[in-house]
Amino acid sequence: QVRVRFAPSPTGPLHIGGVRTALFNYLFAKKNNGVFYVRIEDTDQNRFVPGAEAYILEALEWLGVSPDETIGKNEKFGPYRQSERKELYKQYADQLIEAGWAYYAFDTAEELDQLRKEAEADGKTFIYNHTNREQLNTSLKLSKEEVADKIAKGDAYVIRFKTPVGETLHLKDIIRGDIKFETSLLDDKVLYKSDGMPTYHLANIVDDHLMETSHVIRGEEWLPSLPLHELLYKAFGWEAPEFAHLPLILKPVGNGKLSKRDGDKLGFPVFPLDWQDPISGEKSSGYREKGFYPETVVNFLALLGWNDGTDQEIFSLAELVDKFDLARVHKAGAKFDPEKNKWFNQHYLKEQKNADLSKSYQVILKENGINADDTYVEKVVGLIKERATFVSDFLELSDFFFVRPTAYDAKALKNWKEDTSDIMKQVAEVIEGIEVFEAKNIEEIVKAWINEQGIGMGKVMQPLRLSLVGAVKGPDLFDIIEMIGKQETVERLSIAIE
Ligand code: GLU
Repeated sequence: QVRVRFAPSPTGPLHIGGVRTALFNYLFAKKNNGVFYVRIEDTDQNRFVPGAEAYILEALEWLGVSPDETIGKNEKFGPYRQSERKELYKQYADQLIEAGWAYYAFDTAEELDQLRKEAEADGKTFIYNHTNREQLNTSLKLSKEEVADKIAKGDAYVIRFKTPVGETLHLKDIIRGDIKFETSLLDDKVLYKSDGMPTYHLANIVDDHLMETSHVIRGEEWLPSLPLHELLYKAFGWEAPEFAHLPLILKPVGNGKLSKRDGDKLGFPVFPLDWQDPISGEKSSGYREKGFYPETVVNFLALLGWNDGTDQEIFSLAELVDKFDLARVHKAGAKFDPEKNKWFNQHYLKEQKNADLSKSYQVILKENGINADDTYVEKVVGLIKERATFVSDFLELSDFFFVRPTAYDAKALKNWKEDTSDIMKQVAEVIEGIEVFEAKNIEEIVKAWINEQGIGMGKVMQPLRLSLVGAVKGPDLFDIIEMIGKQETVERLSIAIE
């Protein structure tokens, strides 16, 4: 059975790259009738940020990519929070020591600092590995009794992986194909610390095994860990899952990974939800609060590194599940495109029901002191939504449906000729005389009158719009006239003439 996981560390708000990882795992699971689970990797207590875990789970719910199993939900292989599995990892570290795949290292932080400094003075970087582990303060040169003694005395230690020397690893990645790697290039990573906590590497492998993970789908930044992870599976004698490393998400312009700074600088979110750092108080804006729809975010994320082989760009979540294929994920980094993201939102906004949109719009109207009838607002929304990217654009697009213009666009006013006021007066009279006050009928009558008079269309329509709207914007003018009504139209015309 396909069992995949999203395994975030709660170190802050979930970056859009993480959301994409979650989405691809979800799609792969659903496509293969498998299970998508979420495991919280919180063993690094120094990087733990309160609120981050709840944020991550809420973001996934908002996007509609809910896990089948996670904290508090179908805890078949629980607990799903690594800090609550703490007791479990030591035995696996011990198992590796027993089998000669790991060793104790007693070096103090000061000793290691000293070694780093010495190496630096020689123009080198200090690496803890097969070239020096026998000489350093490790169990490799101590007897079993000496080691037990040190531990009993309370000497601080870590358990390090004893990376094999001179082996060539043949690794497989679903997206990247075959990768060769020399083990001698690896350092001896810490697996366990005497504070009783495993490091990411140990906890991650143990849990992926115990939770019966079939595929590991994660960001490219974890590719360098793949050799160690394969070796750990080998050391435990476990079958490794298959791996797929997703391409980086790149900045819109220039090179490099998309960062929060890029978003801040250019005013676009790189997080799903708003977030305020509980320690620094620093705020980051999220897609949800900016007025993006979850469908939008799912859609544009799916296309960051994947396509279905056609030009199709609009995909619903269900359609993605149907079409998703890991083999079609690219190796090359995918450029993040904020403008395109907005384009997707325009599309999904149009798809929303007018009643729902008008509910959200009513909140904004009320904030602006405008009280309007629900059916009226719903009609307005129907007329303007084609032009909007967000609900927050609505007021700018439709204020004139609710309030009279307080100023007139200066540029458009230049076309207000000597005879314009007189023409508007006559138009007002024509409108006043219309019985059936519906857009189509108003249009017919006004246009017939214009033709009869032999005046150009533009000479009437442009100042008419300016008088009613205050600017050369808005949907069909006759729709506006019908909506605001006869009396209001005539009054606005008479104000404009003055
Ligand atoms: N906890 C890791 C992270 O924060 C998980 C990496 C992995 O998927 O193996 O991304």
